[in-house]
Amino acid sequence: MTIDKAGMYKKLGISKEVLGFGTEIEQALKERFAKIDEIAEYNQLKVIHAMHEHKVSEACLYASSGYGYNDLGRDTLEEVYATAFKAESALVRPQIACGTHALSVALSGNLRPGDELLSPVGKPYDTLEEVIGIRPSKGSLAEYGVTYRQVDLLPNGTFDYANIKKAINEKTKLVTIQRSKGYQTRPTFSVTQIGELIHFVKGVKPDVICMVDNCYGEFVEIIEPSEVGADLIVGSLIKNPGGGLAPIGGYIAGKEEYVENAAYRLTSPGLGKEVGATLGVNQSFYQGFFMAPTVTAGALKGAIFAANIYEKLGYSVIPDGREERHDIIQAVTLGSPEAVIAFCQGIQAAAPVDSYVSPEPWAMPGYDSDVIMAAGAFVQGSSIELSADAPIKPPYAVYFQGGLTWQHAKLGILMSLQKLVEAGIVNL
Ligand SMILES: *Cc1c(COP(=O)(O)O)cnc(C)c1O
Repeated sequence: MTIDKAGMYKKLGISKEVLGFGTEIEQALKERFAKIDEIAEYNQLKVIHAMHEHKVSEACLYASSGYGYNDLGRDTLEEVYATAFKAESALVRPQIACGTHALSVALSGNLRPGDELLSPVGKPYDTLEEVIGIRPSKGSLAEYGVTYRQVDLLPNGTFDYANIKKAINEKTKLVTIQRSKGYQTRPTFSVTQIGELIHFVKGVKPDVICMVDNCYGEFVEIIEPSEVGADLIVGSLIKNPGGGLAPIGGYIAGKEEYVENAAYRLTSPGLGKEVGATLGVNQSFYQGFFMAPTVTAGALKGAIFAANIYEKLGYSVIPDGREERHDIIQAVTLGSPEAVIAFCQGIQAAAPVDSYVSPEPWAMPGYDSDVIMAAGAFVQGSSIELSADAPIKPPYAVYFQGGLTWQHAKLGILMSLQKLVEAGIVNL
């Protein structure tokens, strides 16, 4: 039987030329993709092993309501996360609204007035600026008397050890390390690099708490920062570890004492992890965590495919087509507003939901330029699902991530190219 893939792509609006260009790139990535599959296989086994160890049962999938006392599913899931991430304890909750909230809970649960927070990797993710109070904000750590210090990376993207050592003082209580570059152009750190930084920090001050913002990094490698000395790792369930199925949530995993401190902040002093009904999300949390290694692999393949497509067309891409990956974000500098808009319209046109709408740039609150966003997701704002966004300002770079399956990521990238060809911006 022959499979008429070209015919199906044509039905979806992908021309023979675009498909041919993509197929050639894909052929050359076979070995690379095989390595990603091996990592996914290892991580899949790791998750299943953790589920076996904690005897996940049908009863774990049931809902609790009210206070949520003795929610077997919730408590067992937290043990599964802790085991899979080789941490002592974990807090995995639908009451954590998003990644920023998880990070905010971990920070404010572990910092007290007079303490100092240090970021040795430069400016943290945008939303953290308000959590910390770098940009004045109601309820920030700064308002509670927590000071902040930052050491920028060296021009070549490595750690400035000399100045990190100088910045650590008697007040330094917690060091926050962001694994992913997020929407900056610095490199994303490997887990090994993060381990080296933690080792250095602990050498200067052994009792400092080292927290890693693990957003977008989970399951990209076979180890997590909690295995190289991080006291806390924090992330969002509508990114990698939710596997596209978790409809909400975040996690905080690490040393028992620090996770407890976060739990007392999330719920209330005296209550901690004991309350918090799960209302029926347990099943999607378990199933999402089970799917997460392969979903992350699909997203990674998509990012690498996009890097190689656009690199071949002469655009600047970060990371480049050959670099090792430590997160799932791909930046492509397209150089003009028209190109950025066409790219995002392509991603949208390939979406399973809202494929027929056409995204346009708009003045989003908190940004200093118009922003265009493409997302046709099952879960609102989910960035483990295929999505792209770009500020409409030089150098006109688009940030692209996700894809619940490699096949969908591939379609989205081909569609972005199709729109660039149709707009006369790219000639194949
Ligand atoms: C997404 C992200 C966050 C914030 O998560 P939200 O769910 O958007 O609040 C924080 N840090 C990094 C590195 C991220 O990628």
